Amino acid sequence: MIPGKCCVPCCRSNYKTETTLTTTFVFPKNEELKKKWNSSINRKDFLPGSTAAVCINHFDEQHIIWEDRIPQKGGSTHTIERKRPRLADGAYPTKFPNQPHYLSEDLPKTRKSPSLRRAEEITRGEKQFSEWCEADH
Ligand SMILES: [Zn+2]
Repeated sequence: MIPGKCCVPCCRSNYKTETTLTTTFVFPKNEELKKKWNSSINRKDFLPGSTAAVCINHFDEQHIIWEDRIPQKGGSTHTIERKRPRLADGAYPTKFPNQPHYLSEDLPKTRKSPSLRRAEEITRGEKQFSEWCEADH
């Protein structure tokens, strides 16, 4: 099967047959997730057909699954390398190398540390207090 063209604006993956083919993923069946894909690739009113696809270049590596893990009896896991990668549940395009950087989304790798979150809360609290002081009572 020949992978479809990438439908992300400005991306030319698989437009020329003589170049190496790029792995693509077809749009998800789930309507909510499909909408998320549409808004992510900046084509809100786009109606993806059954062959519409987005190439692997637009997905974060943490959303791409290259191995299947099959639980075995006794608690161990058997890992099988996939010929074609698949997407993790709920994955959507986040990377657009051919478009302005602000359209790309860096997925958070780690959660904010509790101390950093606390510091932000304090800053917010002080701001509210100064606004309260400045307001007429
Ligand atoms: Zn692409």
